[in-house]
Amino acid sequence: MRSLVSRGDCRRGGALLSAPGPLGDPAMPNRPRPLVAGNWKMNGLRRSLRVLGEIEQGYTPGLKAKADLLLCPPATLVLTAAHVLVGSGIAVGGQDCHAKEAGAFTGDVSAEMLADAGATFAIVGHSERRQYHGEKDAEVCAKAAAAHRAGLAAIVCVGETQGEREAGRTLNVVRRQLRGSIPEASCPANLVVAYEPVWAIGTGLTPTAADVAEVHALIRDELRRIVGKAEAASVRILYGGSVKPSNAKELLAVENVDGALVGGASLVAADFLGIAGAYLV
Ligand code: PEP
Repeated sequence: MRSLVSRGDCRRGGALLSAPGPLGDPAMPNRPRPLVAGNWKMNGLRRSLRVLGEIEQGYTPGLKAKADLLLCPPATLVLTAAHVLVGSGIAVGGQDCHAKEAGAFTGDVSAEMLADAGATFAIVGHSERRQYHGEKDAEVCAKAAAAHRAGLAAIVCVGETQGEREAGRTLNVVRRQLRGSIPEASCPANLVVAYEPVWAIGTGLTPTAADVAEVHALIRDELRRIVGKAEAASVRILYGGSVKPSNAKELLAVENVDGALVGGASLVAADFLGIAGAYLV
């Protein structure tokens, strides 16, 4: 089996569920294996974990052959979620992590703690962290590096606000975020990029397929500079922002879209599975 783990830190990228690229769908040999990731945000009590069981039930061999699944519950549920999903092939991730391994940072959770609880991914730089916690690219980059240090894959989120889109600055904003937020030693095994236009998150609005294609092409191009030409093709680039079963097929078919980061719809098993099911045809 060809390994994508080819450089230093990538050896610790324990998050790779199955190698993208040639080990993805033989019908699409040049595309990384898709990843459909759910971000529960600040939603979920212990009883919500039954949704995980429902998702596991719906993760049929047919779907498993087509796409990886990941759920990112709130930090309080990561440990239990990892137990519930053990052996299912569905990964568990954190929604954020601190840049430091440990210390006097009340209320924060380190990447090592997430890994210890059974997570294999950490979302970093989500627009809600950038907006409500003032996180800038340098901090996002430090958090992604912390994820790598702990053996997690970092899902680095980027995306423009409505004002930036209206001002025609989308590509510049996304380019700046990518250059500032992705640490050295990133590679397909430990890096996922999520393009999430801020104005599309939780609003029911989505960009056109052409707009998504334009931004994802830019991201792929930037990745060539950041991780190198050969590796860039295998980094998964997710689209996020109001993905639902009804629009998943169109959005996931766009060139350079290798999966979805799903917020609200990931709280309902049928909706999350309906989105992942877009890969079944
Ligand atoms: C998100 O917050 O990452 C997200 C994509 O949310 P939603 O799907 O609800 O728009």
